[in-house]
Amino acid sequence: NNINIGVASPVVATPKKTKNLIGISKEDLTKQLTELGDFQSYRIDQIWSWIYNKGQKNIDNFSNLSNVQKSLLKEYYHIDYGTLDSDQLSKDGTRKILVGFSGDQVETVFIPEARRGTLCVSSQVGCTFGCKFCFTGTQRLVRNLNVSEILGQFMMARSLMNDFGHTTEKRLISNVVFMGMGEPLMNYRAASAALRIMTDPNGLSLSKSRITVSTSGVVPLIERLGKEFPGIGLAISLHASNNKTRSEIVPINQQWPIEELIKTCIEFSKLNTNKITIDKPEKIKEFASIIANAGLKVTIRQSRGQDILAACGQLKTESVKVKKT
Ligand code: SF4
Repeated sequence: NNINIGVASPVVATPKKTKNLIGISKEDLTKQLTELGDFQSYRIDQIWSWIYNKGQKNIDNFSNLSNVQKSLLKEYYHIDYGTLDSDQLSKDGTRKILVGFSGDQVETVFIPEARRGTLCVSSQVGCTFGCKFCFTGTQRLVRNLNVSEILGQFMMARSLMNDFGHTTEKRLISNVVFMGMGEPLMNYRAASAALRIMTDPNGLSLSKSRITVSTSGVVPLIERLGKEFPGIGLAISLHASNNKTRSEIVPINQQWPIEELIKTCIEFSKLNTNKITIDKPEKIKEFASIIANAGLKVTIRQSRGQDILAACGQLKTESVKVKKT
């Protein structure tokens, strides 16, 4: 007789996929934790404070939660800012970091100034718009960043600079601009979700007046941005004052020409007390003197970090060397 000897295969537990706590809206987190049970609503504020205010990445250190609550949180969630893939410092103090998310990378730039420090965040990996002055535009759109990844850049920078737990006046990163890789209004869902957490007093607690969203002119979403975030800054990459030249430099102008852009900017300005910035590097001094001679206040924004390719329009990740088709 044959004798069959069975060998029991070892039971391998499949690890449970946990969610990144960074980027989950307060409403969603409240709903999810209520379903898990044993989380009163004030606990959500406590959890947000640990994450966004104190920069605590270890759930075990959320000391005002019970052990049961910490265990539950660890079972279903983790905290992830992405990976720091490179960190470069310019001679003018500008710092460019490369942050990795699931195999993709984006650049985030910190620009220190006398009275403020601005973090320039990316909203997409690559970009479809192909503006002629922009290095990112030579890299095809790989994908939109999700809300965790937009916020992850901020968290990574705040962590690197030991900037958690400070009051507004003491923060190194006091301002944010959505002016890095990608067109933020083409990723409106994630960008607006990130803005909500950035401006929540229990979240990153940034005043709307300290945030600027830069667009090449996605007209249908400018007014919506103004309505949903009254007080937020808007920057327009104008680059030319007539449609013929602008369509050559900023191709999206063919879809939404200058007249429509100006009309929506006027609507935006009615909703907002904050200023609209116009980026127009061509003949900038000449243009500035015309405005100044008309008796208006004008400042010329300096481009920073050019030696490490961190200036406006210079961002492009080396990891994705795909030419735009
Ligand atoms: Fe895209 Fe902005 Fe560059 Fe234009 S300027 S190609 S919209 S990243």
